[in-house]
Amino acid sequence: MAKGYLLTKSKYIRGLQCDRALWLDVHRPNLARYSAEQMRRFDRGRDFEQAVRDSFPTGHNISLDLGRNTSAYPEHTAKLLDENPEAVLFEAGFLYDDVLVLADIVCQRPDGSLDIFEIKSGSKLSDTYRRDAAIQHYVIAHCRPLHSFNVIHANPPADNPGSSEQSNNSELPFTIVDLTDDLDAQSDTIAHNISIMKDIALDTKEPTTPTGQHCLEPYACPYQHYCAQGIRQLALF
Ligand code: SF4
Repeated sequence: MAKGYLLTKSKYIRGLQCDRALWLDVHRPNLARYSAEQMRRFDRGRDFEQAVRDSFPTGHNISLDLGRNTSAYPEHTAKLLDENPEAVLFEAGFLYDDVLVLADIVCQRPDGSLDIFEIKSGSKLSDTYRRDAAIQHYVIAHCRPLHSFNVIHANPPADNPGSSEQSNNSELPFTIVDLTDDLDAQSDTIAHNISIMKDIALDTKEPTTPTGQHCLEPYACPYQHYCAQGIRQLALF
């Protein structure tokens, strides 16, 4: 377990899907296995992320300063924001309630408030994107004043423009959706979820949650081979 925080956005999202998957993420992450298709999807997501970041030419990527030393991201982020009133940061780190999140793009306004942009490569605002945005918003809003929280997603296909909640009136190759008001209302639920997930993460015993449809939705769980193995062993007795 990394020093300085207990959960991350990814672990929180995993915990919403399955308590056992969260526990494995914390205690036995080396058991995770991703398919070739999942790896390709991650690559496509990174390519889209980079294309969006190219639209913010003054942006500074904190991962270039700190690499994988994610525990140091929040302090370094705070320092950069304090030094430059108009800072634009990529991978800015925020820590609250033992949860670390890294924001894709943070733009600071002269009054010190932040505009946050989370990048999603899909062409519409799915429920999973909303859940993802909710935990990011919760943590960041407790660290700094927020002006807006936005999701940037790929433009919908030209033959189905209605699949986006917000039309794109510009020439930009992506759509920006402002979720600030929606997310402001979810704080109590997120705090409750985090409290439960911290108990799971700190427990030394692995949950015995059985496999089921939740192993496939909303994401294909990377521990399916491991849990299936347990079922096969049980079947021998
Ligand atoms: S395979 Fe299913 S039961 Fe096992 S950790 Fe993943 S979601 Fe949970």
